[in-house]
Amino acid sequence: MPQETTLKIYDSMAREKRDFEPADPKRVTLYVCGPTVYSYAHIGNARSAVAFDLLFRVLRAHFGEEHVIYARNITDIEDKIIKASQETGLPISDITSKFTKIYRDDMGGLGVLAPTIEPEATQHIAPMIAMIESLMTKGAAYEGDGHVLFNVDSYSEYGNLSGVDRDEMIAGARVEVAPYKKNAADFVLWKPSKGDEPGWDSPWGRGRPGWHLECSVMIEAQLGRTIDIHGGGQDLRFPHHENEIAKTACTHDGAPLARYWVHNGFLRMGADKMSKSIGNVVLAHDLLKEWPGEVIRWALLSAHYRQPLEWTESLLVQSKKQLDRFYRLLEEIPFSDDTGDVPHSIFMALSDDLNTPEAFAGLHELRDMANQMDGDARATALTRLRNAGRLMGFFNHDPANWFKGDAGDGPSDAEIDALLIERADARKAKDFAKSDQIRDDLAVNGVIIEDGPDGATWRRG
Ligand code: AMP
Ligand code: ZN
Repeated sequence: MPQETTLKIYDSMAREKRDFEPADPKRVTLYVCGPTVYSYAHIGNARSAVAFDLLFRVLRAHFGEEHVIYARNITDIEDKIIKASQETGLPISDITSKFTKIYRDDMGGLGVLAPTIEPEATQHIAPMIAMIESLMTKGAAYEGDGHVLFNVDSYSEYGNLSGVDRDEMIAGARVEVAPYKKNAADFVLWKPSKGDEPGWDSPWGRGRPGWHLECSVMIEAQLGRTIDIHGGGQDLRFPHHENEIAKTACTHDGAPLARYWVHNGFLRMGADKMSKSIGNVVLAHDLLKEWPGEVIRWALLSAHYRQPLEWTESLLVQSKKQLDRFYRLLEEIPFSDDTGDVPHSIFMALSDDLNTPEAFAGLHELRDMANQMDGDARATALTRLRNAGRLMGFFNHDPANWFKGDAGDGPSDAEIDALLIERADARKAKDFAKSDQIRDDLAVNGVIIEDGPDGATWRRG
């Protein structure tokens, strides 16, 4: 790997691209706010997961696989989960374990690597209570009506990340106004649990943590006081990340939470951000039934992660076409799981704040170059092309399987395999009328048979 390339990251706190220098290159730490597990992730959520997966891969390429620790939390206690449990009558743990699994499977389907650790909020209640106590001792938190609130006036740098006037932020983000708050921007660290709501004993009575508290505590418990990179979608800058920063700084006498802040832009449907509250969502789970994961991933990475991305059907169609063209060429080299030497141009593009449009342009250039070569030079160029795609999470399939595609309404894989055997038997028996008939019938169903030295193979055209 070309170690001399410097990784540059756009830091939302500094509002500029900076050379990335981890505190300890042998232990690079990345934390990304993960899903609240009460329903399916939409493709906007998936954009965030895929963008940070790419960052994880690029960090590993720079610093070595074993030197990068990526934590993505699971929020398994939250009002929306409680509501889902009340509505369905299912225990909370059934809902959270079901949707945690679905989230992992769906993101895996998009080529998202498993993070190094996936801390769960409910496994960190004791350190959460300890952090609240410490904030209260320091005068940064107060109790009101069974709640414990963080007092934003105790942190003079509150608002530095989002950089917007606090009153404006509050109007825009619908911060809850409540009688027990001293200041509208104060946020809940601990809230009381009523009746059958889940809760834990605490010095302030039986209750549960507020969402903003969870991440600060899990970061400290799992990764340490100050991490290298904290990430999430742009909408989390305020209030969620401002709140995380404020709590950690007040608990640790000013120690920053993260050295770099990275935020992905929105995936949009028309003019709107895709979001559950607007209701304009397309679920990753549903898309994966219709499209190969690599096609969806290609579409998600087609725009730079900080730019808005407009989601359309034609984006998927185009992405499929482009991937097909690459797989067509990769059919020429034997399939293997190896990942090796990545061409410098692609590594440079990805190291420049994950510039995926430039990396894709680089892939196209490599393809054009390979197309002008023959023999060993061509095979080497194609292998390097495959390595470049693999770094981005593509070209993981055997091209032969890639072109088999989905059955749709046509014959299943097993049916086609059986017909191919029947056809081979017919040919052996010199019954060419029958073997031609089988080939023609399959062709009508869009299945193309190719005869080769090792027998016949098929693909969906
Ligand atoms: P949520 O479940 O709403 O907390 O979202 C999970 C992650 O997806 C967060 O990092 C969000 O910022 C991100 N996210 C939510 N909606 C979108 C969207 N439309 N485009 C990109 N990222 C999003
Ligand atoms: Zn968070």
